[in-house]
Amino acid sequence: GRLPSIPRQKNGKRIALIGGGPASLTVARDLAPLGYQLDLYDSQPAGGGFMRSQIPSFRLPPEVLDEEVDYVLNMGIQSHFDTYVESLKSIIDKSYDAIFVGTGAPRGSDLDLPGRQECEKQIHVGIEWLGSVAFEHIQKVGKRVLVLGGGNTAMDCCRTARRLGGEDVKVVVRSEFARMKASPWEIEDAQEEDIPILNNHVPKEFVHEDGKLTGMRFDKVDVVYDSAGKRNLVPTGEELFFAADEVLIAIGQDNAFPWIERDLGIEFGKWDMPQVDKRTFQSSNPKVFFGGDAAFGPENIITAVAHGHQAAVSIDLFLSGKPTQQRPAPGVNLISQKMGVHEWSYDNLVTVDLREKVPHVDKVTALKDRKVEVELGFDVNAAYREAERCLNCDVQTVFDGAKCIECDGCTDICPTDCINFIDNADEDALRRTLRAPANDTTQELYVSEALVQTQRVMVKDENVCLHCGLCAERCPTGAWDMQRFLYSVTKAG
Ligand SMILES: Cc1cc2nc3c(=O)[nH]c(=O)nc-3n(C[C@H](O)[C@H](O)[C@H](O)COP(=O)(O)OP(=O)(O)OC[C@H]3O[C@@H](n4cnc5c(N)ncnc54)[C@H](O)[C@@H]3O)c2cc1C
Ligand code: SF4
Ligand code: SF4
Repeated sequence: GRLPSIPRQKNGKRIALIGGGPASLTVARDLAPLGYQLDLYDSQPAGGGFMRSQIPSFRLPPEVLDEEVDYVLNMGIQSHFDTYVESLKSIIDKSYDAIFVGTGAPRGSDLDLPGRQECEKQIHVGIEWLGSVAFEHIQKVGKRVLVLGGGNTAMDCCRTARRLGGEDVKVVVRSEFARMKASPWEIEDAQEEDIPILNNHVPKEFVHEDGKLTGMRFDKVDVVYDSAGKRNLVPTGEELFFAADEVLIAIGQDNAFPWIERDLGIEFGKWDMPQVDKRTFQSSNPKVFFGGDAAFGPENIITAVAHGHQAAVSIDLFLSGKPTQQRPAPGVNLISQKMGVHEWSYDNLVTVDLREKVPHVDKVTALKDRKVEVELGFDVNAAYREAERCLNCDVQTVFDGAKCIECDGCTDICPTDCINFIDNADEDALRRTLRAPANDTTQELYVSEALVQTQRVMVKDENVCLHCGLCAERCPTGAWDMQRFLYSVTKAG
């Protein structure tokens, strides 16, 4: 087994998970092995949340998702799919011992411009449209499609439209290219699929003939910064019309909790968001926990998983009668990597090799079927080359001042000048006087104890260290060691 076994004898505590995305699934994965009984409710027909309904199949194939989601659901989770929870009170009334809300940020922003109401059928909110495509309620799109917005959702919308029959698909963005929120690689993938991105266009109106959309009008703008550095979009006077059969609006995503009654002891604050403790994920109703996009707004899968682990710790503490603020420490470990005088158990050659490009399936095949996965992955040789570029961020330089004879050998050999033997001073002065000035104040400096011979200290700025190990190789006394750092997140139980 890849996963821990599930005890037959339950511990008698029942937990409701609302939403079946990565946050709730993580809570389920951590608490099921401890004997909790878990009921998961989701409005969709299957688990995975936005990973199933939003992330297109050509990026995340359903088979992969099914396998991973099933690992968790098969831990004895009682799932209630196709079940939209209309009222949190109705769940509380079922006498659960704790409730986890992992309902994401499911509301896509709309664009209330002239013509919006009249052309209801041809204008869609992007995330709703992607959900309908994923569940096959929508199987085709018009030939000419405009996608509004410059984030990753816009990129998924335009690439999906290309696969559903969109031949002339354009992305139209208010801001300039450099300020687009989409990841550069997502933009690149869209452009490779012949999707132009038109920046500095502010949508003005949906144009229609007797309720049938014919296109959209935009104001062209220049980006102008005023003397206070504030950015303004100033119309150039040029107005443009782009013909379209359908428009997808992908301009933002919000939380929405219409199903949570406001008299349940859960306080709501700014933007009508629940007040959730950033460390424990507990709300002001001690039985109700939040995590994933539902807690603090839209993020990503790995953040939802991280929230889920921490919420599971809190729920387990809470149901064991312990304070949720007193959390078990994470596991940390440092292990020397030294194998011989000049030999380390990791490849410490510093290279400047560029990233390998992930091969893609050919475009014609990809655009024929939205379910064909685009990225083919690396072959074995490319994967080895890519792995060799690892920067060994986990291998730390560990300094033992008591062994140092201050020969300066390490200072001479360090390729980035990050080792300094200097007189101690206050932090500002130290930062300025280092051989490579340490201007990034978010990175703490390492300052050793005073050294025996000269009372100087060894100061190191981790930001410039390459983890090459040359200092440890050069040191005649073993005062430097290269040690692998392992960190394991605190898990429930
Ligand atoms: C188009 C798009 C592409 C994305 N691509 C990526 C990506 O490539 N990588 C990445 O890391 N992240 C990506 N994200 C973000 C990622 O999907 C989310 O951050 C993540 O899924 C959040 O997980 P979650 O568990 O908080 O909730 P979600 O995954 O949003 O799941 C919440 C679930 O709760 C259900 N639900 C909501 N309200 C109720 C209710 N009242 N009753 C019952 N069920 C309810 C919803 O239907 C949904 O199934 C993308 C998001 C979008 C919109
Ligand atoms: S590991 Fe390399 S870069 Fe880092 S301090 Fe040692 S010699 Fe300098
Ligand atoms: S090489 Fe070793 S002994 Fe010499 S200064 Fe550096 S840490 Fe000290």
